[in-house]
Amino acid sequence: MIPLHQLLEELAPAHVRLVAVSKTKPIEQILEIYNQGQRIFGENIVQELVPKYEALPKDIQWHLIGHLQSNKAKYVAPFVDMIESVDSFKLLMEIDKQAAKCSRTIDCLLEMKIAEEESKYGFTREEVEEMLRNPEFKSLHNVRICGLMGIGTFTEDEAQTRREFRGLKEFFSQLKSTYFADKDHFRQISMGMSGDYKIAIEEGSTMVRIGSLIFGERG
Ligand SMILES: *Cc1c(COP(=O)(O)O)cnc(C)c1O
Repeated sequence: MIPLHQLLEELAPAHVRLVAVSKTKPIEQILEIYNQGQRIFGENIVQELVPKYEALPKDIQWHLIGHLQSNKAKYVAPFVDMIESVDSFKLLMEIDKQAAKCSRTIDCLLEMKIAEEESKYGFTREEVEEMLRNPEFKSLHNVRICGLMGIGTFTEDEAQTRREFRGLKEFFSQLKSTYFADKDHFRQISMGMSGDYKIAIEEGSTMVRIGSLIFGERG
């Protein structure tokens, strides 16, 4: 574990945003970090996020970072600040629908399959481009695509991690110039966790999702 201020000092020179991943951690421990000034927190499960949102200060910006089933989008739409784990067009359309019902625009990241190991969730590059070219995509007015998210392979092999992050950055740049050149808000690359955030920052991360390093190991 490292103190929050020390982690923030490491992130500051590269202007990297910190998402403090509080999954499985109790309200009191989240408040301790909140009281040190942290405002962006990440949770991976809707059933855990909603009660924490209700119990904690309302100026927290909640990021959903885990797989979201379409039928649960309605529970987070009223308050979520960003959904980092959009992994299908179907889900994006449902988020748009639920956001419209709340008269909100929800910031989203497209989660990419970047791990060389088998990963369950995430778009392939082909799927993303297919979605972006689909006329229906242009009809979505209550979601804002702010960039990409990726989870690297859990490995000691730093070269592999670096390759995966580099690939995500490359694809981001390609999308930026092809589809989002005039969209200022398309600028986030969420990559890096407790074990690999230093490599992620070297490879161009703009947002790291860090849990155990701040809150301690999860049980
Ligand atoms: C749990 C989780 C993290 C944080 O993991 P740590 O290794 O504890 O930093 C980051 N991103 C996602 C998607 C997670 O589920």
